[in-house]
Amino acid sequence: MTPYDDSSAQAVHAAPRLPSPVLIDGFGRAVTYLRVSVTDRCDLRCVYCMSEHMTFLPKADVLTLQELDRLASTFVGLGVRKLRLTGGEPLVRKGFMELVASLSRHLRSGALDELTLTTNGAQLERFAADLARHGVRRINVSLDTLKPELFRKLTRGGDLTRVVAGIDAALAAGVAVKINAVALRSDNAAELPDLIQWAHARGCDMTLIETMPMGEVDQDRTDQYLSLQDVRRDLSSFWTLEDIHHATGGPARYVRVVETGGRLGLITPLSNHFCDTCNRVRLTCTGTLHTCLGRDDASDLRAVMRGGASDTQLREAIFAAVDAKPKGHDFQIARPAVARHMSTTGG
Ligand code: SAM
Ligand code: SF4
Repeated sequence: MTPYDDSSAQAVHAAPRLPSPVLIDGFGRAVTYLRVSVTDRCDLRCVYCMSEHMTFLPKADVLTLQELDRLASTFVGLGVRKLRLTGGEPLVRKGFMELVASLSRHLRSGALDELTLTTNGAQLERFAADLARHGVRRINVSLDTLKPELFRKLTRGGDLTRVVAGIDAALAAGVAVKINAVALRSDNAAELPDLIQWAHARGCDMTLIETMPMGEVDQDRTDQYLSLQDVRRDLSSFWTLEDIHHATGGPARYVRVVETGGRLGLITPLSNHFCDTCNRVRLTCTGTLHTCLGRDDASDLRAVMRGGASDTQLREAIFAAVDAKPKGHDFQIARPAVARHMSTTGG
């Protein structure tokens, strides 16, 4: 079957457990993971992610739920096995659960292995049960501190108790939660062991992320940057960290903390390149496809769709973009590598 065959996603994946990926970039890497930002808006204003007074996109620029579904489903038809919905904050997008419900058809058909999301958790309590019902088995929740005042400061007004309630609701609904924390030199560096212990005690994996130079924010990033190599060295002075092989095709390297029994991921885009095994591409809420987080390459799939493209033409546009996926990125902390904010690209 050729990639341009007009038959359905299910037919492309007649053998769901052993798919042959059809999206292969110019360096031979298979693209099997799509992250979709469903909105640029958010109910928080994290200091490393957004400026205090963000200008959000006009509604007409943002893809409709139908357009998001069409694009995501086209990628699934081309061999994408994992779909992550993100933002901005995905749970503030009106009709978000309808999109999840609709996309869950690909889980039932066997075309998709995983439908998941990354959320700040603030609205999670009321959505957790529905997510579970639609086949979401794991989610990432971003949480940088367990100190209410510091949380309020880092998020510019967020309420920690709502996030903790959201995490508990997800766990109660049977959805596994991974906690993501951005390591910030002056704010949470000393608290990271407590945060890791807290997550592991709840049965959650934990991932630490280095700050990435994406978009202008109100602070100097060189002040915030904390190398995870240094964090690892610190943690190793009182914990036993065992390297484990937990390949996600992503930038995280995993260790097991023997004392807590939990898994810890370290995402080090600045101190450790991970591009050789990159399997992912990102779609913004305006339908721009970025094939590399750290570069300014972009393909306007909204223009293709709104120009009346057939499914075949849409697939051709996706093939062309993936073929041109850059070999790697070149982040440096002192200057934004790319002008767009993480909330636009989708984290
Ligand atoms: N609002 C959701 C959330 O916070 O989880 C999803 C979108 S958010 C952009 C996705 C992830 O990107 C979050 O874990 C956040 O901490 C992280 N993030 C945002 N800006 C970042 C930056 N400049 N460097 C590193 N991580 C960043
Ligand atoms: Fe919103 Fe997530 Fe960015 Fe924080 S990191 S401002 S929660 S999009």
